[in-house]
Amino acid sequence: MTGDGTRAVRAGLPEAQPFQPPVPGPVLAAHFHLPGDPAEAPYGYGREANPTWTVLERAVAELESPTEEAHAAVFPSGIAATAAVLFALLRPGDVAVLPADGYQLLPRVRARLEAFGVIVRTAPTCGDAQLGVLDEEVRLLWIETPSNPGLDVCDIRRLADAAHAGGALVAVDNTLATPLGQRPLDLGADLSVASGTKAFNGHGDVLLGYVATRDARLAGEIRSWRTTTGAILGPMEAWLAHRGLATLHLRTERQQTNALAGAAALRARPEVSGLRYPGLPDDPAHATAARQMSRFGCVVSFTLPGRAHAERFLGALRLVDDATSFGGVRSTAERRGRWGGDPVPEGFIRLSVGIEDAEDLIDDMNAALDAASGAGRTR
Ligand SMILES: *Cc1c(COP(=O)(O)O)cnc(C)c1O
Repeated sequence: MTGDGTRAVRAGLPEAQPFQPPVPGPVLAAHFHLPGDPAEAPYGYGREANPTWTVLERAVAELESPTEEAHAAVFPSGIAATAAVLFALLRPGDVAVLPADGYQLLPRVRARLEAFGVIVRTAPTCGDAQLGVLDEEVRLLWIETPSNPGLDVCDIRRLADAAHAGGALVAVDNTLATPLGQRPLDLGADLSVASGTKAFNGHGDVLLGYVATRDARLAGEIRSWRTTTGAILGPMEAWLAHRGLATLHLRTERQQTNALAGAAALRARPEVSGLRYPGLPDDPAHATAARQMSRFGCVVSFTLPGRAHAERFLGALRLVDDATSFGGVRSTAERRGRWGGDPVPEGFIRLSVGIEDAEDLIDDMNAALDAASGAGRTR
């Protein structure tokens, strides 16, 4: 198996062809010339398949499963990929386990699943608490590790073994880690699902989702869902994301280095509490994370003494943009409580570390922390 950098620059690309570009350009087509039987044709109508998806899907499959054949399907957003797995694979009356502390839209997805007749149980990510709600009735276990935004981690292998023993399928939301940080399929999961909008694309210019699996039947059901609901990715977006994959290895390496340096600098500040980064050797999640992750991602979370303090900090930053989402080349941070969906304190900050120079980021954060504390004293 080649190294991560080599795999990232070549992922999904066709063999070099004279006079063809290295990354095939976007194929803009609603339909293709289609003589004869459509069942024999790789491309017929644009809602079913597109050559620009095909190469990106090959890239996703190679990155999520370098040693064994896998299949991937791309979607126009992470939540479209999530919905495809949950609604294509579950039936009314089925039992699903979702994280209690996962991505903020999950409670609303849960309400739709319940309206559809699925019985939903939840469990927190920390300490493999899902084990407490797994039994033979469970049809699908959905885990998100590291969780967003709390950065708790659960043991994918252990949970997958327990879920499989009861006959359940296991899906892992791999958004935060990216396939260069963690490979859920190698750890026993049936499906690795992600929002490619975040670190996978990394440039903040594309919404993208994907599902990867080694099971051809599951892949067929996911693709069929896509065709029948019409949740399809534009070819321009597919091409942009594929182009950006060439730097996935560089970005994830640099983000991890910067995140570790940034977390160490934040730790030295008395106003910072609840600092979390799974790559920190003394983080509560580190032991499990180190067993199953090869890189620890770009998100650092911490808490400032209150909402006003956190807002002053965000307002004083110059190199870190106040923005949502994460995983981009430019650092961003936000007060997560402003959305109202996450169980976090008012002063909770989710910091996404980019690829700038670590010293500049640390200087900027220290200056903003000084400004936030100073303003607090003069009030
Ligand atoms: C952002 C996110 C999603 C949803 O992805 P979109 O591309 O925004 O639809 C799902 N899971 C996690 C962990 C996320 O961070």
